[in-house]
Amino acid sequence: MSNRTPLMAGNWKMNLDWKQGLALVEELGDQLKSVDTDRVEVVVLPPFVDIRTVQTVVEADKLPIGYGSQDISAHESGAYTGEVSGAMLKALGATYTTVGHSERRQYHAETEEVTDAKVKASFDAGLTPILCVGEPLEERQAGKHVEYTLAQLEGGIASLSAEQAKQIVIAYEPVWAIGTGEVATPDDAQEVCAAIRDALRALHGDEVADAVRVLYGGSVKSSNVVELMGKEDVDGALIGGASLKAEEFARIAGFQ
Ligand code: PGA
Repeated sequence: MSNRTPLMAGNWKMNLDWKQGLALVEELGDQLKSVDTDRVEVVVLPPFVDIRTVQTVVEADKLPIGYGSQDISAHESGAYTGEVSGAMLKALGATYTTVGHSERRQYHAETEEVTDAKVKASFDAGLTPILCVGEPLEERQAGKHVEYTLAQLEGGIASLSAEQAKQIVIAYEPVWAIGTGEVATPDDAQEVCAAIRDALRALHGDEVADAVRVLYGGSVKSSNVVELMGKEDVDGALIGGASLKAEEFARIAGFQ
């Protein structure tokens, strides 16, 4: 058990319009009354169009729920049709942004150059990036999962200052486990999360490596979260499908 505060982040993906999002956050607020939210940080990552609503209810009801976005523009402002800037998110009270989710890498041709620029844009705007890394099935079957994942990680973290590196959140999400119901074993998750921490240690030293939260993501549910969280280098989870139900997400957040 480390002294890192666990982080449970719910990635809604392209689900829930603003009214549905409002209902979910209100219900989550109720469900979290039975969770010690001083000991776990709970965050939701709604679609852009729901964030203003989430802000309103979180502030009005003083809910112990942080929020952020699923993506961020690499650019600061200007002629980038369809993009949303870090400053706009910050103005909504967002604290986190997901960067480099495998669905963005796969369906939106996000290269490592783009994810590196988005990590930088997040820090420039005062947001904490949750940088997602993880291997596809072929790489896992070829035994190259650690190498592949670290290669995705390194560009993104090598250019950070120690102060920034200390704040970043890394989410290890093996692509074959996302939305498939096939969760990585706790040992599989631990192997790669520990390798990520070692890479942070080699680049930025002990203080950074011991502070950074490394999450696991891919078919996390209340029935498997306890075992995953029992692993030394797993500091939380990025949760897709199971974060769309308030009761289930609160159960995950209350894993202790
Ligand atoms: P899942 O998604 O929990 O539905 O597998 C995780 C993610 O993509 O962040």
